[in-house]
Amino acid sequence: MNHQTRIEPEHRGGGRYTFNWYCSCHAKGYGHRSKGAAQSSANAHLKREGGH
Ligand SMILES: [Zn+2]
Repeated sequence: MNHQTRIEPEHRGGGRYTFNWYCSCHAKGYGHRSKGAAQSSANAHLKREGGH
């Protein structure tokens, strides 16, 4: 399985955003408070899936 993640901001109203990540394997993570937090969560997924 190939894993390619991308991060997208989601507008929550009032000028606030959360950040979601999506992987090509259909894994995803929602609601991160910063792009950096989303990135580290995505990286954890990659490490988990690619660690064998
Ligand atoms: Zn994946």
